[in-house]
Amino acid sequence: MVSKFKLFIDGEWITAENGETYQRVNPADPEDVLGEFQKGNKQDTEKAIEAAQFAFEDWSETPAPKRAKYLIKVAQFLTEQQDVLARYMTREMGKTLRDSCADVQEAIDLAYYAAAEGKRLGGYTVPSEKHKKFAMTLRLPIGVAGLISPWNFPLAIPARKLFYALICGNTTVLKPASDTPICATKLVELLDKAGIPKGVVNLVTGPGESVGMTLVKDKRVPVVSFTGHKDTGATILQEAGVKRVHLELGGKNPVIVMDDADLKLAVDGVLWGGYETSGQRCTAASRVIVHEKVKKNFEKMLLEKVRRLKLGNGLDSKTDVGPLVNEAAQKKVAKYVEIGKTEGAKLLTGGSVPSNMKGWFFEPTLFTDCTRFMRIAQEEIFGPVVSLLPALDLSDALNIANCVEYGLSSSIYTRSIKNAIVAVNKLQTGLTYINSSTIGSEVQLPFGGAKQSGNTREDGPEGVRQFTELKTIYIDYSGKLQKAFTD
Ligand code: NDP
Repeated sequence: MVSKFKLFIDGEWITAENGETYQRVNPADPEDVLGEFQKGNKQDTEKAIEAAQFAFEDWSETPAPKRAKYLIKVAQFLTEQQDVLARYMTREMGKTLRDSCADVQEAIDLAYYAAAEGKRLGGYTVPSEKHKKFAMTLRLPIGVAGLISPWNFPLAIPARKLFYALICGNTTVLKPASDTPICATKLVELLDKAGIPKGVVNLVTGPGESVGMTLVKDKRVPVVSFTGHKDTGATILQEAGVKRVHLELGGKNPVIVMDDADLKLAVDGVLWGGYETSGQRCTAASRVIVHEKVKKNFEKMLLEKVRRLKLGNGLDSKTDVGPLVNEAAQKKVAKYVEIGKTEGAKLLTGGSVPSNMKGWFFEPTLFTDCTRFMRIAQEEIFGPVVSLLPALDLSDALNIANCVEYGLSSSIYTRSIKNAIVAVNKLQTGLTYINSSTIGSEVQLPFGGAKQSGNTREDGPEGVRQFTELKTIYIDYSGKLQKAFTD
């Protein structure tokens, strides 16, 4: 018996207006049907927007510390259900249970952090130029927030968007990726269980082109937060009109390994950053730029470890690398491997779809002798494929690192403080890690990219900025007309 999942609109769990549904299967085992989901459309989305708009007045007037109480309850529920949710996640998108647990943990941390922002939400006070005049700012909610999330962090990304929007006093319509509707639905169930007032949180599953685009275009939605592919982000920006549009997009993230690096540490970092989540992270370490003096040694050490990675079902505790999210992703990765070979990159290991596995698996793949303008060194593959590029020195390495259109994350392994600080200043990315891989952000710090990787920062205090309107207030208690820019 296939489980049935519903939309959540105005506090009710309901079916889509047109009665259409779709099924999602386990990417490690396409015979394992995970459930039947509502294929919402424009009408459902408009209904959700209307409910959110109606709920806005009461929710925005609820004191932020009181709004925080719902998030704390959700954090507690998430903690109690961490294992159950992680299993859903692994079945839903393939990543290993260890990786899924970390995704749930991120959602828990986000809930506590955002809840604490409820006590800090405020503006600043500065002196006025005039006598008997008071000048200050306030952070106010914006309105209905349209939240569009991808499939690779099925819980953490919807949680991040929802929790910040809610603590700031906005009401919400969440549209999760069609590949991962379960975790988003479970999260909304927990918000419902926590007693969040009706209409404050709405969930509409269904295609991006209809549900997502309705959120983008509807004038009753003044703020949209999107995480996904850069081309989708560009379309959204074009269609949105005058509203706040926050985009978190892809990456082609470099790890620089200098000749003075701790090579063992760098190998472990590349292994984790390049192959965790099967390379399906916006911050995945997909390019490794190695100083030519240590290239041979580094390559040998890395290859040994990549060959030992175990491909398999994420539910199996021995698995290092799970399947890709769907068949299209598997085909895309295979296509890029062929492009790499044609371009003259040397394939050291992997490069194929394993013949004896029925899911959408792809072997952990390592290329070497890549050059900076090869397509595999420029374009986001979003799979377990790492490309090594030699560099002459730090300056060459930084030029290679920066010669892509993305700018999300970067890393350098070096024992030299000078190298590290030069890299921090020169790498054109939103995040830079020293002696640590390109993945592994923490919720209390801003997250986001430069260049084509996006136009915003999420998390930490930036999360509050995304979802508030800054109001400037002047209070003149002099009792007389005081003209600006005059004595
Ligand atoms: P997509 O852009 O295809 O989809 C992301 C979301 O947008 C999904 O919910 C999707 O719905 C929806 N969508 C698709 N088309 C439209 C549209 N025309 N209008 C509105 N919404 C739409 O990306 P993927 O799901 O493939 O995610 C992978 C990408 O996300 C990668 O490029 C990755 O780098 C990036 N990413 C970035 C992160 C960051 O923080 N910078 C973090 C994680 C991922 P549906 O599923 O129904 O198609």
